[in-house]
Amino acid sequence: QVKAESKHINLVLSLNGKQKLVHVEGAVNAVDEDDVFINADHETIKTAVKNLVENAVNYSPDHTTVAVGVGSGDGKVAIRVVDQGIGIPESSLDRIFERFYRVDPARSRETGGTGLGLAITKHCVQDCGGTIAVWSREGEGSTFTITLPQAQSEQDEKSAKSETAEISESEQLPIE
Ligand code: ATP
Ligand code: MG
Repeated sequence: QVKAESKHINLVLSLNGKQKLVHVEGAVNAVDEDDVFINADHETIKTAVKNLVENAVNYSPDHTTVAVGVGSGDGKVAIRVVDQGIGIPESSLDRIFERFYRVDPARSRETGGTGLGLAITKHCVQDCGGTIAVWSREGEGSTFTITLPQAQSEQDEKSAKSETAEISESEQLPIE
């Protein structure tokens, strides 16, 4: 269930019957006053961001904040998803984008994922000519940054106008 109100999203996720409320600050369109444009397919970018936000929510304790930010500079646009969750051990960092890789299945059993989300995300980002990077520390949280080439103007922008990222459980992820 998602309630999108301008730049804020309140996500109520059901995990194992337990409801979890996470406040998502800033949406993909949080650049209203100073628009930046990217030359990328809207659905593809939405899938990438959606997977990152889902992870941020799934791997964070209740009542922590998940922030989504957009910034630009040096001809690039960065989309950042920041959480205050359980973090990822250093030894796993270079494997999390592999298909089916999950850090210690015991700790993520609750969320019952398949380990495909980040592999799909990376694929989507690369499809759009971008890169993805991760910073994480156990017990502190994680930051995923998508970097894409900045387009000159709205005309350059192939995709439709930015809109708030919608997270819906029923939405189908494309399978590679
Ligand atoms: P799904 O296919 O449903 O997305 P998943 O979430 O397990 O399953 P990925 O999204 O690919 O798979 O993530 C891989 C693993 O990386 C996760 O199982 C989890 O251990 C770790 N991980 C990903 N994002 C985070 C995060 N924000 N905080 C902590 N751990 C994370
Ligand atoms: Mg996932």
